[in-house]
Amino acid sequence: MNIPFVDLSIQYQNIKSSIDEAISKVINNTAFVFGAYLKEFEKQFSEKYGVKHCIGVANGTDAIFITLKCLGIGVGDEVIVPAHSWISTSEAVSLCGATPIFIDIEPEFYTIDPNLLEKKITSKTKAVLPVHLFGLSVDMDPIIEICNRNNILIIEDCAQAHFAEYNNKKAGTFGIAGTFSFYPGKNLGAYGDAGAIVTNDDELAKKIRMFANHGSFGAEVHRFEGMNSRLDGLQAAILSVKLPYIDEWNNKRLDNAKIYNEALKDIVQTPQIRENSKHVFHCYVIRTKQRDELNSYLNHYGINTHIHYPTALPFLEAYKHFNHKTEDFPIACQYQKEFLSLPIYPELTKEQLQYIIDKIRQFFQ
Ligand SMILES: *Cc1c(COP(=O)(O)O)cnc(C)c1O
Repeated sequence: MNIPFVDLSIQYQNIKSSIDEAISKVINNTAFVFGAYLKEFEKQFSEKYGVKHCIGVANGTDAIFITLKCLGIGVGDEVIVPAHSWISTSEAVSLCGATPIFIDIEPEFYTIDPNLLEKKITSKTKAVLPVHLFGLSVDMDPIIEICNRNNILIIEDCAQAHFAEYNNKKAGTFGIAGTFSFYPGKNLGAYGDAGAIVTNDDELAKKIRMFANHGSFGAEVHRFEGMNSRLDGLQAAILSVKLPYIDEWNNKRLDNAKIYNEALKDIVQTPQIRENSKHVFHCYVIRTKQRDELNSYLNHYGINTHIHYPTALPFLEAYKHFNHKTEDFPIACQYQKEFLSLPIYPELTKEQLQYIIDKIRQFFQ
C-alpha cells in the first residue's frame, strides 16, 4: 500500500463538477481580482463563523502581518508567541519590526502555556499571538484574563483550526482578530495561496481592508501606504464551493483521530483533546522516543508521514541572534524530537487507517 500524507485529488474528484463550474464562472465574468465571488465568500465565511467581518487576503502569513500592522504594532514592541508553531507566527511579528517573545508549550496539549505568560510580560508587550496548533484550541480563559488585566491585545492564529471550538465558541473569536490560511492542505484549502482575517471590530476591519489594498478603498485615494494582499476571485469561488463541507470534513478527521487514539494509546503518546473543546485535527501528532526509527519504518511500508516541526521556533537558524537556550523551552525542545504526524485527511479509508495502525503496532512488537 502507498498512503500519501495528504491527498487533495480525492476531495476534488468528489466535488469536481461544482468546482469546475465555479472556476469557469469566474473566468467568464473576468472577476479575477475583487468582484462578486470575493464578496460572496467573505459574507459566507463571516456568517458561518458568526463574526461581523471577514477580509480575504493573499495568504495566512499576510493575515497575521496585516493584522499586527493595522493594530499599530511595530519597532520597540514585543509580541508573545508559542515556542512551537509554523514560522509564519513569529515571522509576521518580526516583519512588523516588533520582537517575537517565545514561551514554551503545554506538555499535554502542545499549545502556548498560559502559566508562563505573566512572567514574560514587560512594558513593551503589546500583544499575544496564541496558535490553535494542530486543530486544538489554546486554553483561552487564562490568556484572556491575563491580557485584559495587562491591557494586551490577543490575535489568534487559526491557520490550523478552522471551526475548532473552545467553550462552545469558535477559535478566532476570542481576541481582537483571528487569522486564517487557506493553503491547499489546510482543513479548508484553496487551490493556491489564500487567507483571511475575521474580527468584530469595525474600525480594525476597515483599516485591514484598506491596508491590503494599498491603503485605499479604491478610486485611487490612498490614505496611507499598505500593500497588495488580496484573495483572488478564483480562490474565493473555490472556497465558497468547499465551505459547506467543512463540518463534515472536520468530523471525519475527528473520527479518524478517535480510531487512531483507541488503537495506539497503549504504545505511543496519542493527542489529548482538551475538555470543552472541539479539536479539528489539522494534524494527528503522536509522540514517541523512537520517532526517527518509527518514521523510517512507516516510510518503508509506503506510509507517508510528516514532522510538525523538526525544530521549535526559538532554535531555528533565523532566530540564532536571540541566543535562546534549550533550558528556556524544555517541552518544545524535547517534543521536537518526538513528534510524528500521521495521515489524517477526511478521505482516508478504513483499510488505510487499519494498515497504518497495524504497521505501527508491528514496529513496537
Ligand atoms: C499554514 C500556517 C500559517 C501561514 O499560512 P500561509 O497561508 O502558508 O502563509 C500560519 N500559521 C500557522 C500555524 C500555519 O500552520
